[in-house]
Amino acid sequence: MRKKERAAIVIERLKEAYPDVECTLEYDDAWKLLVSVRLAAQCTDERVNVVVQGLYEKYPGIRELAAAEPEDIEAIVKPCGLGHSKARDISKAMRMLRDEYDCRVPDDFDELMKLPGVGRKSANLVMGDVFGKPAIVTDTHCIRLCNRIGLVDDEKDPKKVEMALWKIIPPEEGNDFCHRLVYHGREVCTARTTPYCDKCVLRDVCKEYPKLEKLKTQKAKRVQAAKTTATNKGKTAKTKKEKK
Ligand code: SF4
Repeated sequence: MRKKERAAIVIERLKEAYPDVECTLEYDDAWKLLVSVRLAAQCTDERVNVVVQGLYEKYPGIRELAAAEPEDIEAIVKPCGLGHSKARDISKAMRMLRDEYDCRVPDDFDELMKLPGVGRKSANLVMGDVFGKPAIVTDTHCIRLCNRIGLVDDEKDPKKVEMALWKIIPPEEGNDFCHRLVYHGREVCTARTTPYCDKCVLRDVCKEYPKLEKLKTQKAKRVQAAKTTATNKGKTAKTKKEKK
């Protein structure tokens, strides 16, 4: 099956499985999404959603956050990990928004990329979620699932995965498709060696499925063999004891 055909089926199946999707980072303003997505690196979205509440209570706007000392930001965002570098990036980005963009988040991919701490993933997320423009967000779930399903070939580099997906995913579908991959990656196609394929709606189009099924069967056989050996050992020990 060609990748484009496979992609079209996957898009439709995931739409049925997860009709309503949205970004799991909570925000009510574009600049807040920028802050949250920076904090989300190596941290859960749930924790970010809690931590930013304290941050926005103290600094309710771009101007306030831009005026804050990076150390004061760090004291609040520390629970998200990498507090020093995240606080530094947030501070620099807010200052840039204040000084060069009149406190507005630009709706242009290349302009977004100029902001400190903003990479392709963050810029795509803002373009798609805030401005409703075509976007492909290649996070860890997207990369894992696209490799397993067979939408990319053994490719782990986020930019290369993004570029490969642009060729096979219709632009207007990209943003929601990536959100759905996150949902599916958390609930079904998890990072475990053997994900929950038995619950998956993509089994018949997934390239990795036959391999994973084989692995699962082999594992079950090993477990059964180990159980049989243990039972036999127990029986032998019992017989020896009885003979004595
Ligand atoms: S069949 Fe298994 S490996 Fe393939 S997408 Fe579904 S859960 Fe992931």
